[in-house]
Formats: sequence, structure tokens, C-alpha cells
Amino acid sequence: MQFTFHGAGREVGRSCIELDNTFLFDAGLKITEHGTEFPTNFDHTKIQAVLLSHAHLDHTGALPLFNHEGMKCPIFTTRMTKLMTQVLLEDSFHIELITHIHPAYHENNIFNVLKHFQDVNYDKEYSVPSISGATFQFLDAGHIPGSASILLKYKGKNILYTGDVNQQTTLLLEGAHYALKNVDVMITESTYGDRGHPDRKQTEQRFISIIEEVLNAGGSVLLPSFAVGRAQELLILLSQSKLECPIYLDGMAKKVMDICISNQMFVRDAAALRRAQKRVRYITSPMDRKKVLQENCIIITTSGMVTGGPVMDYLKMMFFEPKHALLLTGYQGDGTNGRLLLQEKAAFVDGKKVRWEGRIEQFDFSAHAGQPDLIGAVQRIRPTHLIINHGDEIAMETLAQQVKGFAKKIYMPQVDETVEI
Ligand SMILES: [Zn+2]
Ligand SMILES: [Zn+2]
Repeated sequence: MQFTFHGAGREVGRSCIELDNTFLFDAGLKITEHGTEFPTNFDHTKIQAVLLSHAHLDHTGALPLFNHEGMKCPIFTTRMTKLMTQVLLEDSFHIELITHIHPAYHENNIFNVLKHFQDVNYDKEYSVPSISGATFQFLDAGHIPGSASILLKYKGKNILYTGDVNQQTTLLLEGAHYALKNVDVMITESTYGDRGHPDRKQTEQRFISIIEEVLNAGGSVLLPSFAVGRAQELLILLSQSKLECPIYLDGMAKKVMDICISNQMFVRDAAALRRAQKRVRYITSPMDRKKVLQENCIIITTSGMVTGGPVMDYLKMMFFEPKHALLLTGYQGDGTNGRLLLQEKAAFVDGKKVRWEGRIEQFDFSAHAGQPDLIGAVQRIRPTHLIINHGDEIAMETLAQQVKGFAKKIYMPQVDETVEI
């Protein structure tokens, strides 16, 4: 078997693993300071099935491009991943993330590629019609709603692709808890291969108490958030707190919230999510944005790294008032406003660098397994071959050192490298 890593080799982004020119695990893109990077070249038209782990663009963003280039095979994934992928691809098209690089790419390719999606339920075994003897199973990965690790049986071997995975149960999702034996090849993510996370409960408590302080001092709180998963988790947390101020939701997260509400089997506690939705008010027009700041409130809005979207409108209205606070709830990539805010308390708004006068704090609400959980998974599964991907150089190498005794052979492919097993 040949596994070729068309992306996510010693990097995070553009996950796209081709197996024997027959299967594809994910088809993502990578967003960098300098633009968008796609998976390296191969013949997409020969692929028989795409097995899609979850909706994030670093796993789905290249699908419309592959459609444009003639890929016509079924794309197997959960119903939730399909719905979320549609939201994220359409948004990425409208903010011209993809069209900048590929002028040939058309919005129709999003529509067309979605027609090839086929629903898969967790834990059920499916066969691949065009390949005799090949079966696959999607296992809840606990990363975002609908996310899965994938177990593929092919050529008599058991292949486990973790996708992005989180074993810790959060307010929104049950952690991944699958147990597997006889895994011949395990392909694991390694985003946090070199570090763990602080205790979630303590993080939640610190988060709420800082919000309380800011509100009591007469300020409002701006929460830039990723639309899928993070915004819903924060809403549950806020709705369960004793905070009495209005809570507003803006941007793409509203659409995602509605999808989660109508597909409740993909969240851990549907009643908690419904209560959160009752507690929150949606912002529906730019006019509203001005109005809400006349009172002390909490605003959750996209984008999570402050790179665009409605959060920019709020920044403009709030940056000069020391009483307001900006709480970052996720990873802030290099070259993003979020990173700049953390480093210099400043952000680029309409091309001008402006200083945020109020408080800025960052919280680790990560949806990825920390190092101890990544090690624990390899230790339990004890695969014959372990392939580490979806992590930067240091994360991958640190993880490889830690799991040395638990796999016969460990690989850390570069982008475009083929691992032969
Ligand atoms: Zn992800
Ligand atoms: Zn990812």
C-alpha cells in the first residue's frame, strides 16, 4: 500500500492523503499569511472514494477544486459534516479565499461537489461499491459536531485515520472513546504533540470571572470565535453561568447554531444547547451592531482570528474604550490580527493599525487532543505502523519520541512524500 501525503506533512493545513490512487482521506487547503495553498498535484479522476473526517477547511477546502478538475467519486461523511462543509465552503467562496488562487474555480463547483456526498452513520460498517472487500467505519472523534476518525479495511489491513480528534468531553461534545485492536496502520494528527492543555473546568471558571469583572466595571465583552463548535460551546457555558447581561451572536456562527439545533444527535446535551439558543439574541443587521453597544453585553462573533467578518465592525466601535475587553478563545495563527492583538494589543482595521485600549485575554478552549491524550491513544491501540501528520515539525518529533515503544515503525512524511507499507 502507498500512502501519499499531498498536504499536512510536517505542517498543519491541507490534509489530503491518497491511498493507492484509490482512496482519499480529506481534501483540505492551507491558509497562510501569503495566500492559500492547495494539496500537491495528483490525478483526482482515478479516486474511487473520498472519506471525509470533518468540515474544517483544512480538510475540505480543496473539494470544489478537485470537482472542477474532474473528480466524480462518492464522498462519504456524516450528515453534519456535509451541512457544515456547505456553510464553510460557501463562506470561503464569498470572502474570495479560493478564487484568488484559482480563477477557473466557480461557485457551481461547491454545488456540484456537495451532490457527491453520501451520508454515513457513526459505528456502522459500509462497503465501497467499486472495490471488493473494502469496508469503512466512521467513529465519533469529539473534535467538532459531525467529526470522525475513520477505520478502513482494505487489502486485509486495518487502517485508522484519526482526523482531528479530542478525547476530552466538553460542554458541547462527548470526547472520542473508541477502542480498537489489530490496527496495522494508524495515521494520527499531532497538532498538540509537544504540549498539553490547562484544565478545562479551571479555564471555564477564569473565563466567566473575567467577564463578570468587565461587566461590573461598565464594559462589554467581545468574543471573536470560530463558527463551528467553539461558538456553540461558549454559548452553553455563558447560558449556564449566573451572568445576567444580554448575549449576542453575530456572523456565520448563527447559521451553524441553527444547524446544530436541528441535528441534535450530533451534540452531547441537546437540552443545554436549546437553553443556550433561548438565552442568546441574533444580530441580523449592521444597524443592530451599533445599538447593542449602548448597554453592557457580551458579543460572540466571527472570525475567530479577527481576520474579517462582523468582528471588524465591533473592533472599530470598541477599540478606543478602555472599559471593554477582548477575549480570544482559540489558536491565533501567525500574521493574523488575533496574534497581533496578543503581541502588541493592536490590529489592522481598514488597512490602519489601531490600538485596543481595553483588556485582552486568551483562553485555551482547544478542540484537539493534548499530548497526553495523543500518547494514550497510540499506547492503547499499539499499531504496527504509525504515521504522524497534521502537526508542525517540533510537535511531530516530540510525539514520535514519546510513543517510540508503542508502534513497530514510525513515519513522519513531508508534503508530497509517499509511505510504502
Ligand atoms: Zn479540525
Ligand atoms: Zn485540521
